[in-house]
Amino acid sequence: MKTILEIQKLDRQIKLLNREVDKCPASIDFKKYKQFLVEGRTRFEQLEAQANEIIKNYNQSTNRYTKYKGNSEIMRKRNTKDIDLDNITNLISDTNELLGDLTEENRRVEDLVRKSEEIVRKSAELSNKLTEAKKRSGAIKAKIEEKKQEVAPKIAEIEKKIKSLEPKIVDKDKYEKYKEMKQKGIFPVYVNLEDNFCGGCKVELNLNFIEKLRTKKMLPCEHCGRIIMLDK
Ligand SMILES: [Zn+2]
Repeated sequence: MKTILEIQKLDRQIKLLNREVDKCPASIDFKKYKQFLVEGRTRFEQLEAQANEIIKNYNQSTNRYTKYKGNSEIMRKRNTKDIDLDNITNLISDTNELLGDLTEENRRVEDLVRKSEEIVRKSAELSNKLTEAKKRSGAIKAKIEEKKQEVAPKIAEIEKKIKSLEPKIVDKDKYEKYKEMKQKGIFPVYVNLEDNFCGGCKVELNLNFIEKLRTKKMLPCEHCGRIIMLDK
């Protein structure tokens, strides 16, 4: 068990070195960059949806214009035929209505044009930002690579130590279990009992469990699955 715990200590050092790479400013920048790309894509999709909506509205507007044109045609024909006083009143009221409709339609189209211009402007802005970010990403990746190269020999050194310790392990099963759990991302695998708490997840253990632990000396935590050892 002593050798396994020694290996666990070495593995922790490797984890810390990897974390150094993960937490270095370039890695953080890279995560932000990826996030920015995702957000950029979503934003583009939103702009596209807005553009489609504008096209739909514009088509509706065009259809209404055609209808107004038809109405005005009917009125023009009425105009040339027999004009009496009643007809003139109707004609004026119809003309005013048509004029109102056209003014309203014109306002809508102007609004659509304004919105389209805004979408074009926003898309161009976004596109520039994304291009700029892509240019920077190369330099960021290089920095991360540099950091990786910096810790790589240290990790290799530790791995060599682990390899040299492995033949000394008496309890092969416990080491298999260790490797299996480490693979699953559970680390550290073997933890101490700290008062009545799990040394891994820090959850308080019930007395029944502790009683069992006293006899068995080693038991998996009911909360995090780590193996709790009674003796150091
Ligand atoms: Zn636990």
